[in-house]
Amino acid sequence: MGIAKNLTAIQKQLPSHVSLVAVSKTKPIEDIKAAYDAGQRIFGENKVQEMTQKWEVLPEDIQWHMIGHLQRNKVKYMAPYVSLIHGVDSWRLLQEIDKQAKKCQRIIRCLLQVHIARESTKFGFDETELRTVLASESFGSLTHISVVGLMGMATFTNDQEQIRGEFRYLKQIYTSLKGDLPQLNNLSMGMSGDFKIAIEEGSTMVRIGSSIFGARNY
Ligand SMILES: *Cc1c(COP(=O)(O)O)cnc(C)c1O
Repeated sequence: MGIAKNLTAIQKQLPSHVSLVAVSKTKPIEDIKAAYDAGQRIFGENKVQEMTQKWEVLPEDIQWHMIGHLQRNKVKYMAPYVSLIHGVDSWRLLQEIDKQAKKCQRIIRCLLQVHIARESTKFGFDETELRTVLASESFGSLTHISVVGLMGMATFTNDQEQIRGEFRYLKQIYTSLKGDLPQLNNLSMGMSGDFKIAIEEGSTMVRIGSSIFGARNY
């Protein structure tokens, strides 16, 4: 079937140190099963309710990643099972994740989102805010989250050099923070349209939807 073939084609382009998040948002269970049967185990969704419905019916060994912008009141629904939250973009959200993780007696792995794009519509910390949060005493007191890396989205543009520059900037922040925080081991950047550039610029995790599952109909 198409999905298995697309998945193989993508995988061939990924070096072994880059992991693939198959972005299945808006796609039906059968599509996820097709990718699962082809060996894919990490899936990304951007709505908590949709992800939870899928988690309930799909195999237990799937790792569910939340990749979308997140409202604090939704965290509790995925706290029992979410494997990695990519888009943590505020201190209050991080606190809420910690609180809900504690209730579930889990440690939830998070990536902090960094605002690297030109568009103001995209979310994330700027570099200064990021450094302030990571250095704060209150950050050290959150016992049920583990910040394991950074995530970023480039500007939606055809300008390849613009995209490359934004990814390079994120990689630079990541490398410099890693000096003090060796637990930062994941750099989530790159989607269907720009993952090759992202990998050249140091991505360790790509989030790919339409190149695997086809275009989305909203
Ligand atoms: C939808 C989405 C993706 C995947 O986009 P494609 O262009 O379909 O590969 C990646 N990251 C985030 C945050 C998304 O919302």
